[in-house]
Amino acid sequence: APSTETCHLDELNADQRRAAEHGPGPLLVIAGAGSGKTKTIVHRVVRLIETGVDPRRILLLTFSRRAAAEIARRVEQMAARLMGQQSIVVADALAGSGTFHAVGARLLREFAEEIGLDPSFTIHDREDSADLMNIARHELGYDKTETRFPTKGACLAIYSRVVNAEANIKDVLARAFPQYLGWVDELPKLFGAYVESKQAQGVLDYDDLLLYWARMMEEPSFAAAIAERYDHILVDEYQDTNLLQATILKALKPDGRGLAVVGDDAQSIYAFRAATVRNILDFPGGFDPPATVVTLARNYRSTQPILSAANAVIGLAPERFTKDLWTERKSGDLPRLVTVPDETAQAHYVADKILEGREAGTPLISQAVLFRTAHHSGPLEVEMVRRNIPFRKFGGLKFLDAAHVRDVLAVLRWVQNPRDRLAGFRALQLMRGVGPKAAASVLDLTAGFTGMAGLEGHVPPARAAEDWPAFLELVGRLSGHGAGWPTDMELVRTWYEPHLERLHEDAQPRLADLRQLEQIAAGFASREQFLTDLTLDPPDAVSDEAGVPRRDDDYVILSTIHSAKGQEYKRVFVLNAVDGCIPSDLGVGCSDDLEEERRLLYVAMTRAKDSLHLVMPHRFYVTQQAKAGDRHLFAARTRFIPKAILPLFESRAWAPAPPPDAAPKPRPAGKVDLGAKMRGMWR
Ligand code: ATP
Ligand code: MG
Repeated sequence: APSTETCHLDELNADQRRAAEHGPGPLLVIAGAGSGKTKTIVHRVVRLIETGVDPRRILLLTFSRRAAAEIARRVEQMAARLMGQQSIVVADALAGSGTFHAVGARLLREFAEEIGLDPSFTIHDREDSADLMNIARHELGYDKTETRFPTKGACLAIYSRVVNAEANIKDVLARAFPQYLGWVDELPKLFGAYVESKQAQGVLDYDDLLLYWARMMEEPSFAAAIAERYDHILVDEYQDTNLLQATILKALKPDGRGLAVVGDDAQSIYAFRAATVRNILDFPGGFDPPATVVTLARNYRSTQPILSAANAVIGLAPERFTKDLWTERKSGDLPRLVTVPDETAQAHYVADKILEGREAGTPLISQAVLFRTAHHSGPLEVEMVRRNIPFRKFGGLKFLDAAHVRDVLAVLRWVQNPRDRLAGFRALQLMRGVGPKAAASVLDLTAGFTGMAGLEGHVPPARAAEDWPAFLELVGRLSGHGAGWPTDMELVRTWYEPHLERLHEDAQPRLADLRQLEQIAAGFASREQFLTDLTLDPPDAVSDEAGVPRRDDDYVILSTIHSAKGQEYKRVFVLNAVDGCIPSDLGVGCSDDLEEERRLLYVAMTRAKDSLHLVMPHRFYVTQQAKAGDRHLFAARTRFIPKAILPLFESRAWAPAPPPDAAPKPRPAGKVDLGAKMRGMWR
C-alpha cells in the first residue's frame, strides 16, 4: 500500500511533483495559466511539513490576503487529512503569510524602535498619500505654476515608480511620463518635502512598507535576525513583483536556498505599479549555482477551444518565455465574440446568458464577469439589480472608499497616531462648528510628544461647544491602549451615529455598512492590526446601494481583470472587448504598455474553464485622455483579436428583442361630431 506520504503527491503530474519534492536549492516554476502552479505550491508546503519543516518557519508570499488565505486553507485541509491534529498548528503558523506589504508592515512595527520609527505609525492608502503629496505641492507653490506641473496623482505615481523600481527620476520620467520631463529638477524637492511630512506625522505610505523593509535588510544584524526566521519562502505570481521585492527576497535568501517562486511571464499585468517581468526571467541566473527551473506544459483548467484562442492571442506578443499549453479537455464550444449595439445591450446579453447558465446547471458562483476598469460594470450592475441576480464585486469601489467608513477609520487612526494630520483633520471636522482652521489648530496641539493629552484645556470655537465634550470623552477613552478591541470600534460608531444622520440623507444603508465594519473589526486582535490590514488589503464593497442581498451563498462574481488573477470560473464573460478599452486609450502610449494590455486580455480569457464570451458593444463610452473630454466612440473589435485568429472564435451579433409589435386595436367605423353635441346641450 502506498504510504500516506506519497498520497497527496499522486495528484500531481511528473513535472509538478518534481517541483513539489525539489530540495532546498532555489526553484523557479514558470508556466502558463492553469498549469497548476498554485496547486504545486500547496503540495510543496504540505510536503515540507511532512518532512519535518516547522510550519512557522515557512513564509508564503502572495498577491492578496485572499490568495494567501486560500493557499493556507488548502494546505490545512490536506494536512488535516494526512496528519490529523497537527493541522491546527499548520493553520496558525501560516497565518503569518500574506502580501509583501502586510508582512513588511508587521516587521516594521516589530522593529520600529530599532529603526527610528514610531511603533504606532499609521499607514496611508493611495488616496491619503495623494492628498499629502498635494499639500506638499501646494506649500511649495507648484500648484500655481504656469506650465503644467504634474497633478497630485501623477506626482504620486512618479514617486512610487522611482521608489519601487529603484530608478532615478529622470529615467522614470523619460520612460513613463515624458510630458513632465521639464520638471526633473523640481520633483526631487517635492518628494523631499513629502518624505519629511510623512516622517513628521509618523505615517508610512504603501511604498514605504517595502522601502523600509528593503533598507532594513541592508543592515547585517537586522538581515540576520529576520532571515533566520524562515527556512522556506514561497512566492506565487512572481511575475508581478517589483525590484524592491526582489531585493528583499535576495536579502532574505542570498544563496537562494529555501526559496521557491512560481509565475508566468505572459500574465505580468502590474508594470504600471513598477512590477517587472525581469524578476522572473532573471531569477535562475541570480544564484550560483543557478536555480532549478521547472516548466509545466499541461493545462488542467480550460477546454481546448478556449486554450487555443488564448494561446493565439498571446502568441502574437513579440516576446514571451512560457510555452503554449495543451489540455486533455478536447471538446467544448468555441469562445464567443458577441457584437451588441451598446453597453445597455451588453448588460442584457450578459444577464440573459448568466440566467441561462444557471438554468442549465451552472450556479451563479461559478460564473464571472470580468472588465478592464471598475466602473465598466455600472450598466450591468443596474441590470442585475433589476433582475434580482445577486452579485459580488471584486476590485472595484472598496468598502474603505465610502465616506462614512473613512470617517470612522479616521477617528481610530488619529487616536492611534495623534500626529497623523490627515486622519485628525477629517475626524475633527465631523463636528459642527469645526472647520479647516479650527481643526488645524487642534492638530498643532496633538502633534507634540504629549499626543492627545495636548487637548486638555483647549477651548474650541464657540459653535463647536455643543459637540466638543462628547468628542473629548471619546478621545479620552480611546487614547493609549483604548477601551479594548473591538469595543473601541463600537464607541466610535455610537459617537458617530448622530453626526452621520446629520451629514447624510441616506443614513440607514450607511449605518448598516458600519455595523458590517464592526463585524469585520471583531475578527481582528487589536485596533492596530485592524487598521493595518484594512488599509493594506481592504475588503471589497460587498453591499450594493441598490440593495442586492449581501449574504447570498449563490452570487455572480463581478471583477476587474486584475483582481481575478489566479482565479478560475466555469463561465466567463469579458466586457468591452473593444479597442479603447482593451487596450485602453491610456494604455497605448508606448509599446510596453500595449503589450501589458495584451497580457491582460490573456489573463481574462484564461480564467474560463468551460465557456467564454467576449462582448463588444458597438457604441462604447470612452474617456479620450489625449483629446480631453468624454465622448461616445464607435468601437472596433480589440486589435488583439485580428482577422487571422478570428476562426478560433464564434462570431455573433446580438440585440435585445424589440418590444412585441402593438396589435392593431379595433377602431369605430363611423364618425361623430361631439362638439356639435356639446353646443346642442345649450340650445
Ligand atoms: P494561474 O496561472 O491562472 O494562476 P495556475 O498555474 O496557478 O494558474 P492552478 O490554479 O494551480 O493553476 O490550477 C488550475 C486548475 O487545474 C485547478 O483547478 C487545479 O486544481 C487543476 N489542476 C492542476 N494540476 C492538476 C493535476 N495534476 N491534476 C488535476 N487537476 C489539476
Ligand atoms: Mg495560480
